[in-house]
Amino acid sequence: MNLKDVEKLSQTKGFVISSMQDMEHEQIVFCYDKPTGLKAIIAIHDTTLGPALGGTRMWNYDNEIEALNDVLRLSRGMSLKAAISGLELGGGKAVIIGDSKKDKTEALMRRFGAFVDSLGGKYITAEDVGMNTKDMEFVRKETEHVTGVPESLGGSGDPSPVTAYGVYMGMKASAKYKWGSDNLLNKKIVVQGVGNVGENLVKYLTEERAKIMIHDINKERLDSISKQYGAEIVNYDNIYDIDMDIYAPCALGATVNPDSLNKLSCEIIAGGANNQLENEFRDSNLCAKKGIIYAPDFLINAGGLINVYSEIKGYDRTHALDKTKNIYNTTIEILKMSELENMTTHEAALKIAESRIVSSRKS
Ligand code: NAD
Repeated sequence: MNLKDVEKLSQTKGFVISSMQDMEHEQIVFCYDKPTGLKAIIAIHDTTLGPALGGTRMWNYDNEIEALNDVLRLSRGMSLKAAISGLELGGGKAVIIGDSKKDKTEALMRRFGAFVDSLGGKYITAEDVGMNTKDMEFVRKETEHVTGVPESLGGSGDPSPVTAYGVYMGMKASAKYKWGSDNLLNKKIVVQGVGNVGENLVKYLTEERAKIMIHDINKERLDSISKQYGAEIVNYDNIYDIDMDIYAPCALGATVNPDSLNKLSCEIIAGGANNQLENEFRDSNLCAKKGIIYAPDFLINAGGLINVYSEIKGYDRTHALDKTKNIYNTTIEILKMSELENMTTHEAALKIAESRIVSSRKS
């Protein structure tokens, strides 16, 4: 370590444990393996309700602080998601620092699996951005604490279709609350990001005969989804200016912020992406002021988690879909509570999730 590195480190003195205190994390594990080049962080947020479950994301972060911030935010989101969905699970998440297209090898994934195993089941991993079921197969060679393995190996397979189903339920419930009907016929809906979740959402919206507009930075994918479902392609430059009823963020987080809200004319925001609000309280309040119903992300994108939970409990996909369907009722409950108690929809969802964790700590 040279002098510059030490200087840099000293500037971040107090950063790690202070961040844990701020967000109430239990444990963070930093993993490094020279032979495979693995650099990973596992964050365990809360294990009150059960083992911390959450996917592993592989991303080319600009720096380690960015990676740490991401894993801290995502793992907290998992605790809330499990709590609001009534699952006996805590929240955790892992990030692997690197380019999933170039740096991912079987050896690296297996070494990561060995780190997960060393936690003895306190953390259970699964797929996230930059991962696929094959990677989970490699992890599975080193640990049993992994979900979302291929159906051929007795797992629950790709969780995205169930996630999309939950988002669709949350969107319909929001429509019912806002417009008195959950029929999405002719509603103008912008889906940002047509990856695994986005495509499955587009499938449901096509059945409803909504007016679907899509955007993705992957042009090939964008063209193919547009062709398959007859969805209109929109440009990124003016995506928030488009005349729309519903905005469905299904790519990365933080797209709901003062800048986008200044332009958005939609009445509902309901999508699959994690951490959609750049700043939870500021941006949920801005949504409320503009009369936009924000369907809390950690509530409506919980279908994937419900699906992997069913894998642990030995349930089948029908059971997972039934439980995911209930997102409709919970969304209505939260929208009512937000109105009655004069709080934002995000605050209402947070209140329900946190009170479940706290009351469980007491019992
Ligand atoms: P994915 O990688 O399959 O798809 C993401 C898509 O977004 C890709 O096609 C990518 O090209 C596109 N994209 C990236 N940046 C973009 C941008 N700036 N503008 C437009 N498009 C962009 O991932 P996924 O599994 O579909 O997950 C999507 C989101 O949903 C992520 O935030 C993920 O964390 C969240 N999520 C996924 C699940 C699940 O079951 N897969 C569960 C809960 C939450």
